[in-house]
Amino acid sequence: MNQPINHQWCLAARPQGMVKESDFSYVKAELPSINDGQVLVRLTHVAFEPAMRGWINEGDTYIKAVEIGEVMRAAGVGEVVEAKHADFEQGDMVQGMFGWQEYAAVDVEGALLPVQKLAAGVTPEMALSVLGITGLTAYFGMLDVGKPVEGDTVVVSGAAGATGSIAGQIAKIKGAAQVIGIAGGPDKCKWLVEEAGFDAAIDYKSEKVGRRLHELAPKGINVFFDNVGGETLDAALANLANNARIAICGGISSYNDATGTPSGPNNYMMLVLKTSTMQGFLLPQFSKRFAEAAQQLGEWVATDKLKFAVDVQEGFENTPNTFLRLFEGKNLGKQLLKVAN
Ligand code: NAP
Repeated sequence: MNQPINHQWCLAARPQGMVKESDFSYVKAELPSINDGQVLVRLTHVAFEPAMRGWINEGDTYIKAVEIGEVMRAAGVGEVVEAKHADFEQGDMVQGMFGWQEYAAVDVEGALLPVQKLAAGVTPEMALSVLGITGLTAYFGMLDVGKPVEGDTVVVSGAAGATGSIAGQIAKIKGAAQVIGIAGGPDKCKWLVEEAGFDAAIDYKSEKVGRRLHELAPKGINVFFDNVGGETLDAALANLANNARIAICGGISSYNDATGTPSGPNNYMMLVLKTSTMQGFLLPQFSKRFAEAAQQLGEWVATDKLKFAVDVQEGFENTPNTFLRLFEGKNLGKQLLKVAN
């Protein structure tokens, strides 16, 4: 009888500059066995985050670096095929850090993210997007760091992505007078205005961001939620209102820099002139409030106040190339890969 095989994608080399498919190797392994406190999960969906690019650099950051030869780390959803933990049984749909592999043997408690059952009515797409890492990041970054109030002008970069699209809509729900998204390409800009309810969108690939911000927000920006950094951050800094708040969520424009050290913003003195604050944040700092946020996000989705988009690619063999889509700007909303039914 044939032994079941577990296909995996492992880190083959630390990328130099732009990450590429050959930085990962396709491996055939035996199906793992599990110990007490573990579950064996057959993955159905893998989720992709730009932060994963940082996990494969040399050296630990807020999280341990993935080692060469190790299965690439990633969040995902799957079905429990075997459980040695009292809270789980065969057939449960669960989410957790399962990695780029078809089967994962994981600790229920000890893993980076505890393994959790999907709540009734929650699809894998929802669990990994609006109710998952990126939805929660948008929620806390916008509400606790950006702190929009009624009448504010709010600008979001990376606006048609998983985090940005939710962040902008949350500002609108909280009474922002004007929400402007910055995104790459006419299709994404059209989607932001026509589907996600943004008031305006700037296509940074064909427009001058600073000039357009000045035209659209002549009284200045009250809240800037930044996913991109670099020139985009400088353009926003040049257009602040007094007492503005800048929430630094990420800086994807430099994640594939060969130098590894992005330069700081040129326009930082605008923080002084506009008595403004710029604050970075990391999602884990809000971990005690994840349930509150997921409940609120779920309510907004159920009442049609919050739209979410997912970009679902197919086929486990396409895993690294699906990751690359984030840096090529090919995804609209959350980048996912369906690896099995
Ligand atoms: P995403 O926005 O769904 O996907 C990434 C998007 O970034 C792409 O679709 C692309 O959109 C844009 N992009 C790629 N390369 C770019 C470049 N060189 N310059 C400008 N834009 C570029 O990804 P996400 O998962 O929601 O993450 C968004 C940001 O949030 C990232 O910076 C990520 O690191 C950060 N994040 C932070 C936390 C935290 O705890 N602080 C947690 C999660 C995510 P365009 O087509 O518009 O260029």
